[in-house]
Amino acid sequence: MEEIIKTKIVKMDPENIDWHIIKEAAEIINKGGVVVFPTETVYGIGADALNDEAVDKIFSAKGRPQDNPLIVHIADFDELHDLIEDVPDNAVKLAEKYWPGPLTMILYKKNILSDKITAGLDTAAIRLPVSKIALALIKESGKPIAAPSANISGKPSPTEASHVIEDLMGKVDMIIDGGSTEIGLESTVADITGDVAVILRPGGITMEDIVSVLGDCKYDPAIIKCDEKIIPKSPGQKYRHYSPRAKVILYKGKTEDIARKINEDYEKIQSEGKRVGIMSTVQTENYYRGKVTISCGDRTNLLTISSNLFKCLRDFDHMGTEVILAESVDEEGLGKAIMNRLGKASSETINL
Ligand code: AMP
Ligand code: MG
Repeated sequence: MEEIIKTKIVKMDPENIDWHIIKEAAEIINKGGVVVFPTETVYGIGADALNDEAVDKIFSAKGRPQDNPLIVHIADFDELHDLIEDVPDNAVKLAEKYWPGPLTMILYKKNILSDKITAGLDTAAIRLPVSKIALALIKESGKPIAAPSANISGKPSPTEASHVIEDLMGKVDMIIDGGSTEIGLESTVADITGDVAVILRPGGITMEDIVSVLGDCKYDPAIIKCDEKIIPKSPGQKYRHYSPRAKVILYKGKTEDIARKINEDYEKIQSEGKRVGIMSTVQTENYYRGKVTISCGDRTNLLTISSNLFKCLRDFDHMGTEVILAESVDEEGLGKAIMNRLGKASSETINL
C-alpha cells in the first residue's frame, strides 16, 4: 500500500514572501521531499531535480507514466549553463524576451540531469518562472526544481490550492497556497534544438510571440492535426489529459451555430436522464437561460478563459455533471492553447 505522509498546508501572499516558510520548504526539498507551490501557469509539484529518489516521489504521487519527462525550473538564466550543452543563440534571444515567463525550452542536456527527469531523452525541458514564490523556493534551496503540474495524471491541472488538496493530500510534504494562478494553463513547450523553433505544446507564450523574436517558428504536426499516426515529439502530448470525470463534448464553428446546437443537445441528453452542463462564455450565457451553465470567461479577453478553464471542469465534477457541452474559442493567440487543452479533455468534437 502507498505510504500516507503528513501534508503541511501554508498560505502565502505571492507579493509578500514569507522567508520563514520558504526556508522550511527549501529544507524539505534539500532532504529529498516534495513541495507544491503556485506558479503563474498552474500549481507545480516540486522536488530536487538532481535527486532521482526525490523525483521518483513526483512520479508516484501523480501516477505519472515514467516515459513523460519533467520540466526543470531555474531561478536565474546563468543556471541554464549548468544543465544544458552549448546554449544556442535562439535560446538566449527567447530568454531575454520571455524569461521569466510561461515558456519552456527543450535543449540538449548535460549529464548532470538524469534519465529519470528526461525519460531517457538527450534533451531536457527548462523554464524560468515569474512566480515570486517559485523563484524564492528555487533560490533558497539552491537546486533546480523539477515540477510538473500538481494534479493526478490525466486530471485537469490545479489552478488553486483546493484542487491540489483534492488530488495530493497525504502524498506530498507541503502545499504552499498562494491563491489562484494567473494564466491557468501550462507553459508553452518549444523545441529550440534545431534551426527553427518548434512548439510542442501551446501555452501562454504564443506562436506570434516566438516569431516576433526569431522570425520563424512551427507547430509540431501532432498539435495541428488530430491523427493517431502522428507521434508527438513531446511525450506527454500522447496521453489523454486535463479530463474531468464527466464526458466533455466540444463544439466548433460560428458562435450562434454552437449555441443553437448546444441547446438542442442539452435537451436531448437531459431527456435521457443524464446530468448535463454547459461551459459557456460571457457572450453566450443568455442563449442558455434556465439551463445548468458555468461561464468560463470573456471571449474578448482570452486570459479570463484560460485562467478559469480547469476550475470550470473541476466545478462541473463537484456538481456531479455527467456530460459537459463546451463551446470552442478562436484558435488565435492564447486561443490555440485553450483549444489544445479542450481538445485533449474532450472525447467527442462536433464540427458545425
Ligand atoms: P508538465 O510538467 O506536466 O507541464 O508536462 C511537461 C511537458 O513537457 C510534457 O508534455 C512533456 O512531455 C514535455 N517535455 C518535457 N521534457 C521534454 C523533452 N525533453 N522533449 C520533449 N518534450 C518534453
Ligand atoms: Mg501536467
